[in-house]
Amino acid sequence: MISKIIAEDLIHKVQKEISKAERIVIVTHVGPDGDAMGSSLGLWHYLMTLNKEPVVIVPTAYPDFLNWMPGAECVMVYEENKETSDKFLAGADLIFALDFNIPKRMDMLADAVLATNVPKVLIDHHLHPADFTNIVISHPELSSTSELIFRLICRMGDFSKINLACAECIYTGMMTDTGGFTYNSNKQEIYTIISELIKLGVDKDDIYRKVFNTYSADRLRLMGFCLYKKMKIYPEYKAALITLTAKELSLFNYKNGDSEGFVNIPLSIAGVDFSVFMREDKDKIKLSFRSQGTFPANKVAADLFNGGGHLNAAGAESYASMSDTVNKFEEALENYKDFLE
Ligand code: 5GP
Ligand code: MN
Repeated sequence: MISKIIAEDLIHKVQKEISKAERIVIVTHVGPDGDAMGSSLGLWHYLMTLNKEPVVIVPTAYPDFLNWMPGAECVMVYEENKETSDKFLAGADLIFALDFNIPKRMDMLADAVLATNVPKVLIDHHLHPADFTNIVISHPELSSTSELIFRLICRMGDFSKINLACAECIYTGMMTDTGGFTYNSNKQEIYTIISELIKLGVDKDDIYRKVFNTYSADRLRLMGFCLYKKMKIYPEYKAALITLTAKELSLFNYKNGDSEGFVNIPLSIAGVDFSVFMREDKDKIKLSFRSQGTFPANKVAADLFNGGGHLNAAGAESYASMSDTVNKFEEALENYKDFLE
């Protein structure tokens, strides 16, 4: 048995909304990761078993290493299919918002979702959920939204409706948001759930290989370039920084997802507890922050760049130049010395 962490009244409310609805839209955050896709597709597969008409809409493309996920081929990318997505949103009678806490994280999809006048359900594990949905299931103590989806389906009495495709999606989200169960993964019930998923036929070793061992040569060369030429260490602050400009990315034929995980690498250096990765995109710089122990990556993201996230994994965007963004970061490092262990 796993403990009942979602409040009973919320379970009933969601169940009621699902039973009333036919056309259900599931949305998630920009730059969807394994948990965004895993929770969305997990819920999608479940709703299919109820003979609903669910559709997953993601603001921007998901990375190639998630192409194999069952149902991924049906996911609508808003940026690429705005007209059709808008039609789905206009025709929806229920919207699920998964794996993010504030509308801004939906990027260009936010306005379209907020403009709809149908019940909305937020299911998420980030701190401080904003008040933009009718029902809020927020559990920051859990390491993934996918785990919440598993718990929700079970609590609605529908464990038997979790098919292999659904189980694979849920497992993927649980695995990717914990770095393959290397962080945020000490809760015993994670493994009770995994045990159930394996019983349903999930091949966890195969999913690991599909997600983590299918990179392109270009990505590996880009990683080598980062580590050799672009990684700066600040020993007195136990910090590391990797930056990549748009020009450097193009040298390595950068594709969405190619820099996934780069931010974690410096944490494997003894004496580095805080790692930052900055990547120059079309119109902004995307920042990723990772830390070990009690150093608050989310505080730095929020204080300096109006971002947020979890204690050990956070993100933000900067609209300044790369050099100004780096300067701002370097100048602020001294202020966080007291947080070092
Ligand atoms: P990543 O570095 O993988 O993009 O993001 C790590 C975590 O930081 C995400 O799970 C999310 O919680 C948070 N995050 C990423 N980007 C942003 C952002 O631009 N704003 C906010 N508030 N949080 C972000
Ligand atoms: Mn997540």
